[in-house]
Amino acid sequence: MKHVLVVVEHRKGQTRKVTYELATEARALADQLGGTAHAIVLGAGAQTLAESLATYPLDVVHVAEDADVDAYLIDPTIDYVEAAARSIGSCAVLVPNTMFGRDVASRLIARLDAGMIADVTGFDVDGERLACIAPKLGGATITTCAFVNCDYAVATVRPNAFSAQTSGSGARIEALQKPPDRTYAMRVESEVEEASGEIGLEEAPVVVSGGRGLGGPEPFTTLLKPLADALGGAVGASRAAADAGWVPYSLQIGQTGKTVSPKLYIAVGISGAIQHKVGMRSAGTIIAVNKDATAPISEFSDLVVAGDAFAIIPELTKLVQT
Ligand SMILES: Cc1cc2nc3c(=O)[nH]c(=O)nc-3n(C[C@H](O)[C@H](O)[C@H](O)COP(=O)(O)OP(=O)(O)OC[C@H]3O[C@@H](n4cnc5c(N)ncnc54)[C@H](O)[C@@H]3O)c2cc1C
Repeated sequence: MKHVLVVVEHRKGQTRKVTYELATEARALADQLGGTAHAIVLGAGAQTLAESLATYPLDVVHVAEDADVDAYLIDPTIDYVEAAARSIGSCAVLVPNTMFGRDVASRLIARLDAGMIADVTGFDVDGERLACIAPKLGGATITTCAFVNCDYAVATVRPNAFSAQTSGSGARIEALQKPPDRTYAMRVESEVEEASGEIGLEEAPVVVSGGRGLGGPEPFTTLLKPLADALGGAVGASRAAADAGWVPYSLQIGQTGKTVSPKLYIAVGISGAIQHKVGMRSAGTIIAVNKDATAPISEFSDLVVAGDAFAIIPELTKLVQT
């Protein structure tokens, strides 16, 4: 396996941040494997999005603007990705570990007779052998698994596991031919509902997270949401809050939840267990609001505001709003 292909995820004309992370990592992997780094971008606006990818260190961006891809049926996307992978030759395909990416990956491995490793947070290259590091069993075990006996390998990669870096090298943009149609379903009707927390949290520049210290579900909407809105951010949570049923699991940050990398992370009533830390430690600035000034989170926070969240957060929100 020598080459690397990134499947670009975009919505409403915006490329998801994870794509840039994968594009950067694809270059590093391709260099270690001795191959080339590719991306594929499909659907409405693909050409413009491909141009924005040109500042990332890719060799080729494969493009197709095809209305069949935009109607929510995944088969046309798989047709294109399969065709691109086969034209590149033996390669690792990196897709985001998101709803879209998981949908693509599961079908692609059947088409390409490929191996697959899910929820990858790191890679390890040894010669032409590619291994993936991935938490398993709810984060209790961290595994390193290598692809063997396959020409194609698919890895779903956790958003925010890698940083994105532009290089300005200027990737070549190539149009894809329409592959033979292998669609076995047709769209009859569709109703689109945004999945809560699926996009906002991982890409928000500010995350305001709550933990067990909040004591129940209401403070997430009455205390944290106004502050997050005032800062243009999103609300997150610790596992204790998700396990208690106060918020959906889609808001959980940490080893068994999402990895976030905002400019500012405000942890409210969260003690800072290692399993939480691994999901937010790369935030630019970390502020903890905690009754206990010596809670473990104080060891990796830039600022600790010691006191009762119910007194501090409304005041802070007022200050931000004015
Ligand atoms: C395999 C495994 C995977 C895990 N994965 C995750 C994960 O992905 N994410 C995650 O978060 N955890 C995870 N955990 C759980 C983790 O170990 C901790 O139990 C959890 O993070 C604790 O959540 P917390 O900080 O909200 O609660 P606590 O540890 O109970 O902390 C509550 C904090 O609130 C403060 N507080 C109380 N009242 C107030 C108040 N009024 N104002 C201000 N502060 C107050 C307290 O001083 C305390 O520091 C995992 C555990 C295991 C074993």
